[in-house]
Amino acid sequence: MGVLARYASLLPVTDATPNVNLEEGSTPLVLLSRLGERLGIKLWGKLEGCNPSGSFKDRGMVLAVAKALEDGAKALICASTGNTSASASAYAAASGVPCFVLLPAGKVALGKLAQALMYGATVIAVKGNFDKALELARLAAEQKGCAIVNSVNPYRLLAQRTGAWEICEQLSDAPDWHVIPVGNAGNISAYWAGYTEYKRLGKASKLPRMMGFQAEGASPLVTGKPCPAPETVATAIRIGNPVSAQLAKAAVAESGGEFNSVTDGEILSAQRLLAALGGVFAEPASCAPLAGLIKLKSQARLPEGITVTMVLTGNGLKDPDTAMSQVGRPVEIGDTLDELLRVIEGSAVK
Ligand SMILES: *Cc1c(COP(=O)(O)O)cnc(C)c1O
Repeated sequence: MGVLARYASLLPVTDATPNVNLEEGSTPLVLLSRLGERLGIKLWGKLEGCNPSGSFKDRGMVLAVAKALEDGAKALICASTGNTSASASAYAAASGVPCFVLLPAGKVALGKLAQALMYGATVIAVKGNFDKALELARLAAEQKGCAIVNSVNPYRLLAQRTGAWEICEQLSDAPDWHVIPVGNAGNISAYWAGYTEYKRLGKASKLPRMMGFQAEGASPLVTGKPCPAPETVATAIRIGNPVSAQLAKAAVAESGGEFNSVTDGEILSAQRLLAALGGVFAEPASCAPLAGLIKLKSQARLPEGITVTMVLTGNGLKDPDTAMSQVGRPVEIGDTLDELLRVIEGSAVK
C-alpha cells in the first residue's frame, strides 16, 4: 500500500484525489549493530533507498503529483539536484503527464540522470547551480501553468511526514535523536512535523532531538548565511540557499537539536563504513549524518546508549562514479581453479 492509502486520514486526500501510487514508503528500519557498537548507541537506519525511484523523494512526490492532477495540471516541472527529478519523472510516467526537469549541468549523479531520461521526462541541463535552476523553474511554472513539484510545493512536506510516522510505528515510539542530511531543508522540517503530530495524537511518548548535517562546502545553516557557490561530492545536498531554512531552524531550535557540518572526506569514509560494517550502500549525501555521529563521538558529544534513527535518504547505486572513485578494482584471474585458490589463500580467509 502506498503512503496516500496508508495514511489517508492524516493527509489532504479526498475522493477527488487520483490514486497515484508506486507502493512508496513502508521502507525497512534496520538495526545497524556493528556501527552502533562502535558508536556506543542503538543505531537504526531508515532505508529510504528502497523507495520506488530509490530515494525518500517519492513520499512527498506522490502527493504533489496527485494534487497537481486533481487540480487539472497538464504538465509538471521541477529543478533538482537529481532525486527530485527521478521521482517526479517516475510519477509523471505512471500518471501519463509530461514532465520537465531542470538539472545543474554536469552536477547530477549518473544514475539519477539515467532515471529521468528512462522515465521519459524532458531533461534540461542548466548552466548554473541548483538555486538558479529552481528560480527558472518557478518562473516558467508561473508563465506556463505547469505544476511545480519542488519542495516549495507544500504537499511534498506534508507527505514526507510519513517517514517519521513509520519510524514511530517501527520502534513503537520516537527515537532519542533523529539524524538526517540537510540540503533544501525540507526533509528535516517534515520529519519534525511528523514527530510532533504523532506526539500530539498520542502515538509517540516523546520527541527526538533533530540533528541536521550539511556538507562543509554547502553549509548555510551551520554558518548562518547563504552559500553563493556550494560545492560538495554529496550532490544531493549541494544547495547554498535552502528553501525551507526557516522551518528547519525552528525544528532544530524546538527540539534542542543542532546543525553540524562534515567534510567531503568524512562523508566518503562514512559511506564506505556504512557499506562495509552495515551492509547498506547509500549515496554520499545520505552518509553525512553517519560522518556527523562519528565526529560527535570523537568530541565526546554523543551520549552513550541512546536510540538514534538515521535517514539513509538515497540508494548508493545512484552515484556509481563516486563509489568507484574510492574503491579498488576486481582481482582479475584466468579461468583456472589454481588462480582462484591463490587469491583466496592470499586473502584474510585461510
Ligand atoms: C533531497 C535529498 C537530500 C536533502 O533533503 P532536503 O529535504 O533537501 O534537505 C538528502 N539526501 C538525498 C539522497 C536527497 O535526495
